Amino acid sequence: MTTIAFLGLGQMGFPMANNLVKKGHSLKVFDLNPQAVSQLVSAGAVAALTPADAAQDAEVVITMLPNGDIVRQVLMGEQGVCETLSPEALIIDMSTIHPLQTDALIAEMKEKGFAMMDAPVGRTSVNAQDGTLLILAGGSPDQAERARNILLCMGSEIVEAGGPGMGIRVKLINNYMSIALNALSAEAAVLCESLGLDLNVAIKVMTGTAAGKGHFTTTWPGKVLKDDLSPAFMVDLALKDLRIAIDVARQTGAPLGMGKVAETYYQAATEAGRGRQDWSALLSEIREMSGRVNKH
Ligand code: NAD
Repeated sequence: MTTIAFLGLGQMGFPMANNLVKKGHSLKVFDLNPQAVSQLVSAGAVAALTPADAAQDAEVVITMLPNGDIVRQVLMGEQGVCETLSPEALIIDMSTIHPLQTDALIAEMKEKGFAMMDAPVGRTSVNAQDGTLLILAGGSPDQAERARNILLCMGSEIVEAGGPGMGIRVKLINNYMSIALNALSAEAAVLCESLGLDLNVAIKVMTGTAAGKGHFTTTWPGKVLKDDLSPAFMVDLALKDLRIAIDVARQTGAPLGMGKVAETYYQAATEAGRGRQDWSALLSEIREMSGRVNKH
């Protein structure tokens, strides 16, 4: 049984804290919303008046808050966690915040003599209720080990992301990709409808192709990730097909903003002499644009 201060009892934090109580941990909870606090008290937690009050005697502090400024305020502001926290305690920030702010917070807390790790979560509030969150653990190996049993009360899977700040980095990359893909998918669906094609047919086809499955697990492993850019499907041909889609969209009135941005990358790859390389060479092209070293 661990004494835990839990700060932030919203859509995610409430069920996560509730699962910790159910697993027998001793929780002192704080939220600006008194209703959330009193509901958790009914479930067996103790109410705290401030973050500092919650952190008194805590072995672990968990934050599940809307953004990095609020996490900072709750930790270091007036009546914040730092005012009462034992230097032996471990702070686990499970919120989704800016990764550079995570780095700064971990460094500032270290200067003050406190240990802090990032462990943001994947999946939704339904998983928070079921205790089946995907937990992306940053932190040192020691911190990750120390947090493990507590994290497993809230999630069914822990990925150790590779050190302090790496949990929030992988969370950012995952969200960036799935959020952008949602826009691309919506554009493709509207293009499909604008052409009179049944969306269900498109969904059936794309369930088995790189369009639906993504490139990380389909086209990339055998090509660019193996440093093999011999073409399975050439950049020039991909650009030709992309331009047909853009032209069709222009004629049917479907918005294709994501497609037009993609065209600039494919065009740059062609102009850089990659036209006859495999289309996965887009990774090499975009790496080069960022000034990163490339083998090809
Ligand atoms: P939420 O808005 O439902 O909950 C945030 C809680 O923080 C609220 O109860 C609010 O009263 C409380 N709060 C705000 N300021 C506070 C302060 N100064 N002191 C104490 N409490 C304060 O948000 P949520 O959906 O629970 O998300 C929490 C975090 O988890 C966010 O960083 C979010 O991006 C991330 N996240 C959410 C989901 C999701 O599906 N909702 C999934 C993964 C990660």
